[in-house]
Amino acid sequence: KLFNEVQELKGNIRVFCRIRPFLCNEDHKSSTTEITGDNGELILANPAKIGKEGNKLFKFNKVLGPTTSQDEVFKDIQPLVRSVLDGYNVCIFAYGQTGSGKTYTMTGPEAATEEELGVNFRALNDLFLISRNRGDTFNYEVSVQMIEIYNEQIHDLLGSNGILNSSLPNGLAVPDATLHPVNSTTDVIELMRTGLGNRSVGATALNERSSRSHSVVTVHVQGVDLKTGATLRGALHLVDLAGSERVDRSAVTGDRLKEAQHINKSLSALGDVIFSLSQKTSHVPYRNSKLTQVLQSSLGGHAKTLMFVQINPDVSSYAESLSTLRFAERVS
Ligand code: ADP
Ligand code: MG
Repeated sequence: KLFNEVQELKGNIRVFCRIRPFLCNEDHKSSTTEITGDNGELILANPAKIGKEGNKLFKFNKVLGPTTSQDEVFKDIQPLVRSVLDGYNVCIFAYGQTGSGKTYTMTGPEAATEEELGVNFRALNDLFLISRNRGDTFNYEVSVQMIEIYNEQIHDLLGSNGILNSSLPNGLAVPDATLHPVNSTTDVIELMRTGLGNRSVGATALNERSSRSHSVVTVHVQGVDLKTGATLRGALHLVDLAGSERVDRSAVTGDRLKEAQHINKSLSALGDVIFSLSQKTSHVPYRNSKLTQVLQSSLGGHAKTLMFVQINPDVSSYAESLSTLRFAERVS
């Protein structure tokens, strides 16, 4: 319902801001954020200024506070996910500095309990559930693709045993990435494990690296209408973006500098694409980064976009929170 009602929203772009809680190993210092109601408004307070002087108001489609559960988050986006079975292309992004909860929202924490599972498992579960419910009228086939974009290069994380994706229509296929048919959420969890194992770095470097690469899980759905024989296709892209933190360019050199430049470039390219979609400008600058190229057919047109803007509430993160919220404000 939610997404049908707001169909006429500019460019079909929604922005949800999620504030993560303080963690048990963190000092419970004061929070920079204040949620004033359930109207999507958020106040960010500058810790260097006293009183209301340093307050800045932001407005989004929704603000999800620190006590919001994974289940509640999913409920809010469930209609969007389900629209994939009606043939829509959908992109769900998590944007924010490292440590702000992007992976928590998209995947869940390491060794997640069922309650802690993130958007991608819940989305797959839901798609399988609904496609089975529609079994009398539609025959759905679901397949998954998993890539990482690091330094503007695409790495297929499910390289072996996949089928080539040339069966996909133009625009939907990622060059050289394999497509893996799945029948259940268990299949998907297994594939994702394989994918993580295929990342070319050791376990300790994994977190580091994952914060500097974009990970894109794509769920392709093909449905055949059993009465008419008509085929529809939808795709759901689940994107855990690289950390948006500003890197001090005077302090880094070599590989780190290159990484930082690639991340900056691709995140601003994404911002530019979403901004021009929201403005309905005629030229959309998809070609400026690998990420926007890969997602081109699912950004704009009839496609739907949702961005989770993740915030670490701690005062030490004030400057990053401000820049994250400014990015989000521009695209919303
Ligand atoms: P990112 O992917 O943005 O770097 P993470 O998802 O790894 O950040 O989150 C950083 C830490 O905060 C992790 O330990 C994660 O489990 C925890 N965390 C993030 N969001 C939440 C939340 N909503 N509830 C509980 N813990 C969270
Ligand atoms: Mg992460």
